[in-house]
Parts: sequence; C-alpha cells; structure tokens
Amino acid sequence: MPETCRIGVLGGTFDPIHAGHLAAAGAVADRLGLDRVIFVPSGQPWMKAAPPQAGPADRLRMVELAIVQDPRFEVSRVDVDRPGPTYAVDTMADLRASHDRQSPGQQVDWHFIVGVDALAGFMQWREPSRLLTMTRLVAVTRPGHARPVVPLPADAVDFIAVPPVDVSSTRIRALVAEGRSITGLVAPAVEHYISAHGLYRASRSPGHQAAGDRP
Ligand code: ATP
Repeated sequence: MPETCRIGVLGGTFDPIHAGHLAAAGAVADRLGLDRVIFVPSGQPWMKAAPPQAGPADRLRMVELAIVQDPRFEVSRVDVDRPGPTYAVDTMADLRASHDRQSPGQQVDWHFIVGVDALAGFMQWREPSRLLTMTRLVAVTRPGHARPVVPLPADAVDFIAVPPVDVSSTRIRALVAEGRSITGLVAPAVEHYISAHGLYRASRSPGHQAAGDRP
C-alpha cells in the first residue's frame, strides 16, 4: 500500500501573492508535516468586492515565481481554467480527481488552508457540508483579524498560529499605485514582475478592502 500523502491547499486571488501567503503556507506545512502545499489562484473570486486587478495569467505567473523558495510548494491552474465563479468545493473536487488520476490508490489527507478572515464567511460558501467531506480545514491567524465563531464540528478545523505578517494584496496594490516600495512584502521575482509588466500602477478600485477569499 502506498503511504498516505499529506497535502495542503491554499486558494486565493493572489493579486499579488505576498509574504503573508508564503509564511502561512510554510508554517502550516511545518506544523502538520505536509508533503506538499498547492497554491490555487482563483478564477473569479465571488467574495471580493471588486474583480482582481491583474489577469489570471499574471496572477498565476507571480505564484509560480514566488513558490520556488520552498520545494514543497506547487501551483495548480484548476480554478483559472474553470469558467465562472471560483468555489472551494469545485477546487477540492478538481484537485482530488486530478490526484486520483495521477496517483491511483494513494491515500491523501487533504488540508484546505484559510486565513481566519476568510473562515468567518465559511457558512456562506457553496456547499460547506460537502466541502467538509472532502477536506479538513486549517485556519491560520492573520494580524488584525480575530478568530471567528463558526458553527463547525470541532474535528473539522485546525486553528494554527502562524508568524504574523501584516500585509495584504490590497496594501501592495495601493503602494504600487502610489509609486512606493514593496520590497520585502513580495518575493523579489514578483516585485520585478510587477514592475516589468506595469501591474497595479493605476488603482482601479480604491474602496476595495481586504475581505478574505475563497468561497
Ligand atoms: P486582498 O487584500 O486583495 O483581499 P489578501 O491579502 O487577503 O487579498 P488573498 O489572496 O485573498 O490575499 O488570500 C488568500 C488566503 O490567504 C486567504 O485565506 C487569506 O485569509 C489568507 N491570507 C492572506 N494574507 C494573509 C496573511 N498576511 N496572514 C495569514 N493569512 C493570510
């Protein structure tokens, strides 16, 4: 029998991917002994107040550039390739089906990682009960956001304190639009990509607040 594999999934708009995402994924991988963490950039994030500023190809590429720092990190394009709004239940169904095709018979412990800000809206996600049949949830701390009260079975979610990295994609977009530095907030290759492709230079949605992600 093949060994059970432990896989984390971190969905997000990644507009752009930043140090907070990478720190959270690494800390969860360390704590839970994950073999892999799959970053899944969203297609159309239904919970955001505004559509992503960067297109899916740019957001995907920035994730590819950022994740080279950790051999456990991977990226999947299942959500950018699926038309319509991105729902976590579809993400997990697609990732599980893809894994079953590639590694038939291998057991997987799936861990769907969310910030506590995103977990707060969990009961409004599409088919939350079905999602919980496909994966455990891992809720990570995030500066400025309290642990929410969500009516979930105690064994459905692990709360994990990760090193606080007080950054959001919203802030990074605003800094770029103001012509200010984002050094240290994103991976150097991502900083270079943003600059080389002129991303975020004009702020399209000044009212957009960090609001979590992922139905
Ligand atoms: P935006 O500012 O555009 O709303 P964001 O910074 O919240 O974006 P997302 O791509 O929406 O980034 O986040 C994807 C996931 O990562 C969410 O579950 C979110 O809660 C989590 N996350 C984002 N930033 C952090 C952080 N600094 N610390 C811990 N978790 C984070």
